[in-house]
Amino acid sequence: MSETDGIAALFDPDAVAVVGATDREGSVGRAILENLAGFDGTVVPVNPSRETVLGRRCFPDLASAPAVDLAVVAVPPDAVVPAVDAAGAAGVQAVVVITAGFSETGGEGADRERRLRETAATHGITLVGPNSLGVMSTRSGLNATFGPGDPLPGDIAFMSQSGAFVTAVLDWAEGEGVGFRDVVSLGNKALVDETDLVRAWGADPSVSVVIGYLEAIEDGRAFLEAARAVTPETPVVLVKSGRTDAGARAASSHTGAIAGSERAYEAGLEQAGVLRAGSVEALFDYARALSGQPLPDGDAVGVVTNAGGPGVMATDAVGDADLELASFGPGTRDRLESVLPETANTHNPVDVIGDADVGRYRAALDAVLGDPGVGSAVVIAAPTAIVDYAELGQAVAAVQAAHGKPVVAAMMGGARVEPAVEVLREAGIPNYFDPARAVASLDAARRHRERAARPVDPPTSHDVDRARAAEILERVQDRPGNRLGVEAMELLEAYGIDTPAGEVVDSPGAARAVAERLGGDVVMKVVSPEVVHKSDIGGVRVGVATADVADAYEDLVARVRAYQPDATVLGVQVQERLDLSDATETIVGVTRDPGFGPLVLFGLGGVFVEVLEDTSVRVAPVGERGAREMVEGVRAAPLLRGARGREPADLEAVVEAITRISQLAMDLPAVLELDVNPLVAGPDGVTAVDLRLTVDPSQTG
Ligand code: ADP
Ligand code: MG
Repeated sequence: MSETDGIAALFDPDAVAVVGATDREGSVGRAILENLAGFDGTVVPVNPSRETVLGRRCFPDLASAPAVDLAVVAVPPDAVVPAVDAAGAAGVQAVVVITAGFSETGGEGADRERRLRETAATHGITLVGPNSLGVMSTRSGLNATFGPGDPLPGDIAFMSQSGAFVTAVLDWAEGEGVGFRDVVSLGNKALVDETDLVRAWGADPSVSVVIGYLEAIEDGRAFLEAARAVTPETPVVLVKSGRTDAGARAASSHTGAIAGSERAYEAGLEQAGVLRAGSVEALFDYARALSGQPLPDGDAVGVVTNAGGPGVMATDAVGDADLELASFGPGTRDRLESVLPETANTHNPVDVIGDADVGRYRAALDAVLGDPGVGSAVVIAAPTAIVDYAELGQAVAAVQAAHGKPVVAAMMGGARVEPAVEVLREAGIPNYFDPARAVASLDAARRHRERAARPVDPPTSHDVDRARAAEILERVQDRPGNRLGVEAMELLEAYGIDTPAGEVVDSPGAARAVAERLGGDVVMKVVSPEVVHKSDIGGVRVGVATADVADAYEDLVARVRAYQPDATVLGVQVQERLDLSDATETIVGVTRDPGFGPLVLFGLGGVFVEVLEDTSVRVAPVGERGAREMVEGVRAAPLLRGARGREPADLEAVVEAITRISQLAMDLPAVLELDVNPLVAGPDGVTAVDLRLTVDPSQTG
């Protein structure tokens, strides 16, 4: 049985069984049965201790009941797995488990959920839940939930990890006239999860927008793959709660400390083309614009308003977004002049003035949308006694339809403007009380258009010495904390990243010999797995003259001893000193997220990286375009491009280094965390000066 069949059975079944049907007042089994009253197909109650339930014939089990393609299970926790097993035996394709008492309770419940998953998987059942409010679809009037009412029909598909959220949103949406295609309360996601639904809804032309409220995406990488395939066609908007990284981890690298799970979500969702909404309100604001209106062709927004203040608010919101206020061509200005009174403003925002009637609004909007430079428009109306609001709604809808450009409305008011809001809704034009929300929704449409049009960014395949790199990682076997430092610099060489000449030595005499060979002043660094940030304990000396090298050696070792008497001292690295006067210290790092896998970080580096917090993060693999965007994405990018008379850094070399480190992260799962800090970016290339990594010894070799 294919996944598609299971999903079809979930949303558009011919017959639905309610396992645990009962007419007991206040029970979940009864509520589900009552909600199924409007279902177009057959409803089959199942309960061994009843002959009839709510006037319908009741069957003792699925084996003796007529065939169904969807079963809703609301029986006590211990009876759930047998019920799903019976459903599988009876050929039921999709099951929704309402019953709670599974992994959310831990211990025994978690074990029960494991058995549930296995049973469903064995039968090839598409299973939603457990601990789900249920599933609704307006395809066939299906309301297989114990929620309070039916959704209005529409083309928005909605999934939620919180059942309470489903009921609250549906209740609100009805009042707003927002309709749905399918609604899924995900529950514990034992089997069906956000990835399955995004894939299914993305393949369904009757769904215009996928929206979701999620608390976690366990398999971030699978979700990213699925969403990336879908978002060029179907917008996906998510509210992801739990945005603060409460569990600030005791990371042993800068990258690990900076790129926590929130950065991983941010990066992963962005790369997947998913729009993130900051609030539930924004989720539906965006969904309404995306479902009802075409995507804007350009970033320039025209504003038509009958009041100054709201026009200014819209202008500010355009500035806050990545949109621009359209400047009209002379033809548009002439047209506006001919239809507006002399005192009216023919510049954007176009103020049709408080005494405007519907005709003036219509003419102004027509002129604005007719301007070839205008990509979209916002129509704002504060209530006046002159405007007939139903007529205004009709006029806006007609002009929008004639031009085919997206229009959003801010009818600012309540009962008086309601007739306009209703007409606009019918036409798919969303209305927002606040002009700023209207503009933010246009901006969401712009973001979606941009992401949908983004070309694929193939991963690089530089010629590297992977075998040599794997060998170097094996050295970690006897190191405390599974850490490697500058003694493993060859790892970077194996991946084609330049490092300064240098050597790790274990005596003052050997240090001096290396310094003599290198010539000139050198840099000396302690090499000890226990010393994570060498400068913090005075463990880095820059510019040591040959004559002072032996003393410096003793001093550096003494510093480690003072810091931690039993620390392992592997020696001291004597390194060629680089001229940093024209260079910028950057950081390139790797960390692993449990859900999204390897992440790559780029930013302004050096010893203050965590203070500066100027970094960009991406899920690996990072292709060339992604790496370039990472570089452009940091605030300090102008520094690298050569601000204030500095020589510009070799940006292509920086981009290449990022893709090489990305490739290293993909190739070598043993690398858990890695910092190249600094990667010195100069006018003629980049050099990795420092390295720190944490290795999983079980994955080396
Ligand atoms: P840590 O990060 O453990 O303190 P680093 O090796 O990164 O140690 O050195 C700290 C700082 O010293 C670097 O950020 C850089 O400014 C400077 N430095 C390190 N190595 C060199 C070098 N070879 N040439 C010039 N400056 C260096
Ligand atoms: Mg460093």
